[in-house]
Parts: sequence; C-alpha cells; structure tokens
Amino acid sequence: MADKVVTGLLVKPGSNFSLKRRNPGETFGWDKERAKAELAEVIAKIDVLQVKLAAEHEHSLLVVIQAMDAAGKDGTIRAVFGPLNSAGVQVASFKAPIGHELEHDFLWRIHDVVPPRGEIGIWNRSHYEDVLVVRVKNIVPKEMWEKRYRHIREFERLLSDEGTTIVKINLHISKDEQRARLQDRINDPAKRWKFRSGDLDDRKLWPDFMKAYEVAFNETSTEYAPWYVVPADRNWVRNLAVARIVLDALQRLDPQLPPDSPGITDLVVV
Ligand code: AMP
Ligand code: MG
Repeated sequence: MADKVVTGLLVKPGSNFSLKRRNPGETFGWDKERAKAELAEVIAKIDVLQVKLAAEHEHSLLVVIQAMDAAGKDGTIRAVFGPLNSAGVQVASFKAPIGHELEHDFLWRIHDVVPPRGEIGIWNRSHYEDVLVVRVKNIVPKEMWEKRYRHIREFERLLSDEGTTIVKINLHISKDEQRARLQDRINDPAKRWKFRSGDLDDRKLWPDFMKAYEVAFNETSTEYAPWYVVPADRNWVRNLAVARIVLDALQRLDPQLPPDSPGITDLVVV
C-alpha cells in the first residue's frame, strides 16, 4: 500500500510546484522518540529488500540527495544508509568539476558512478548542481544550462529504461535554520572543518537558489524519476521521511529472489 506521507512529499510531475507551499519545519504530528524507533523498523525492512535486490541482480536503486549547505546531506546518509550492508551501497559525492572532468560533457562523470545491478547508489549532490549552482552563478552561459533540463530528463529516462529505479530527494531547510547551523559550525571546533567561506556567498544568493530548485523540480520531476521535498529543519523528521521514501521505492521495485537451480533441494552437503 502506498505510503501517504511519501506521496505527500512528491513533486507531482507537471504540477507547477512552489517551494513556498512546503514547510521545512513540518513534523506530520510525529513524536520524536516514536519516530526514532520507527526509523530502525523502516531500516530493517530496507535491509531485507537490499538483500533481495542483490540476489536478483537485475535492478539498481539510485537515491539523489540535493540540498543547500548544512541541510543534513551527510547526516541523512549516515543515519539512513549507514546501518545497511555496505557491500551493496555506494556513496558518491560531487564537488565542483576539476581537471579532466571539465574536458567532457556535464553528465560524463555522473554516468560513471550510476549504481550497478543489485546495488543502491546514493549521491551527495549530483548532476543537478549543473542546473543549480551553475545557473545561479552563471558558471556556463544560459544557452548551455537551459538545455540541460532536457538532457537530464533523457539521461534519467535511459537509466530507468535500463533497470535503475531513481528517487530524488531535496532536504528542504529554512534560511533561519541554515543560519543557526552554519554559526554552529563556525563555533564548534569539531565541526569547523565543514565550513567554507563560500557557504556564506551561496547563502547570500538564497532566493536565486530557491528559484533554481523550483525550476529544476518542475522541469525534471517525472513518473520515472520523481522529486521528493523533505522537511529538514528537524533531523529526526528528515531521517524518517527519507527512510520511508527509500522503502517505498524498494517496495515498488519489488526485487525477487532468483528461482532455485533444478534439483538443489535434493542436494545433501557431506
Ligand atoms: P560540499 O558538498 O559542501 O562539500 O561542497 C561541494 C561544493 O561543490 C558545493 O559548493 C557545490 O555547489 C559544488 N559543486 C558540486 N558540483 C558542482 C558543479 N557541477 N559545478 C559547480 N560546482 C559544483
Ligand atoms: Mg559544504
């Protein structure tokens, strides 16, 4: 049965979505302690399906995570995917392209790390940077980035046709919560390494980034590669919401254990 919370987080394809209608502080009426217990239950279910995904060895699951700085990308990956069997999970993090990456089209380095059959891939940032930061900061001319929405839709269609289930998740944090978290990173010596002065430049461009996110959602949320906007001001809400999206995707993928080899049940190990 479809998870109603998950359906509510979806950016419906062709819906003229607006971020203003989504509250980053949403709690769905959940209780914090109960939500933590439920997270463990949901992860246990994901774990069972991960084994089947590996055994079937036909499909893969790609989870794209995009968000502003300090929205909790790293924390989400650790909380939701950390407990899984790491042999079947690959995390890829995308920084600004360098060296030979710049000698190719923007999807070249992306395609290389698509999860292979049987595995779950998690992307900490993604090809969406090429229509987000690149658009906001005019890193390439408009004539170039404006075509990328179509390139992305067609690329994701290819992956989907070839057996990859794609879910794209935006961790939606408020500007106020980001201020508090960035300040905390500056103040706390253990977290200071995460802070870059460039984070403040991006923060100044907040409205432009929100606009770019909205356009990206409207242009690229499709039946085969939907966007979900997750309230991220509270870590415990964020973690459970993301876990439920992943479980929902795996349940739809519905991996099956392979059929028994003929006669296997007659074999006796001596
Ligand atoms: P972080 O994820 O905080 O370690 O930062 C990575 C940085 O790389 C962010 O500022 C991203 O905007 C930037 N980045 C990632 N991909 C691209 C890209 N394709 N073009 C430009 N900047 C990028
Ligand atoms: Mg950062």
